[in-house]
Amino acid sequence: MSLHDLNWLITHSESRSSRMIHQLREHGISHEELLALMGSVPRHDFVEPAFSHLAYSATPLPIGRNQTISQPLTVARMTEWLLSHSRLGRVLEVGTGSGYQTRILSHFFNKVHTVERQESLYLLAKQRLSSMGVNNVEYLFGDGQAGWPNKVEMDAVIITAMASKIPLALTNCLKQQGILIMPIDHPSPQIGCWRKEGDRWKCLGTESAYFVPLLEGMEYA
Ligand code: SAH
Repeated sequence: MSLHDLNWLITHSESRSSRMIHQLREHGISHEELLALMGSVPRHDFVEPAFSHLAYSATPLPIGRNQTISQPLTVARMTEWLLSHSRLGRVLEVGTGSGYQTRILSHFFNKVHTVERQESLYLLAKQRLSSMGVNNVEYLFGDGQAGWPNKVEMDAVIITAMASKIPLALTNCLKQQGILIMPIDHPSPQIGCWRKEGDRWKCLGTESAYFVPLLEGMEYA
């Protein structure tokens, strides 16, 4: 890429990212630190290169291996729920994917545990975030339905793929009063936020959103 092309890409990414922030505000996202962060993280580095010109648009985009990065509003909404309702100690993310949501979480939580079942995505996200200087994330290549291996208790669990049933290992590793964010497809595809209260779950919010399915087992690169 020539210096001219690089300058063009940077300038256009900046104006597209400020449009993205404007749209997030219009949809009710109001956490200033989150908006500033999403305005500064280079989202175009997290999508497949052929789609980098669309990286700041209100749409999910391919990240390889038939998987997608969630659209900006979904990432913002899930994170804002966590900022409103969760302690910001440890969070478990199921579905590292591109690492974009991981990057956003790593800014606010002391520790992020993230699991990915596709080896190539796991390796790429790990390398990408390390090169960005992110150092409070533990990565695991595995099936996230089994939870985190050494039974650490989490303040929050965020599942970024659609499950047909709630994996018990994931709800069990959540502390009392912990926050669960996961997609559901009834009555229509959406993402929801719940608080664990004894053996009950209090719904704190829902938002329409589309996710790829949560799958069993692992896939090697
Ligand atoms: N948070 C991601 C979204 C990725 S899409 C981002 O910001 O880019 C969902 C991801 O979940 C995919 O990468 C998919 O491979 C992964 N996934 C699906 N089922 C899984 C499972 N059982 N365990 C771990 N990861 C899973």
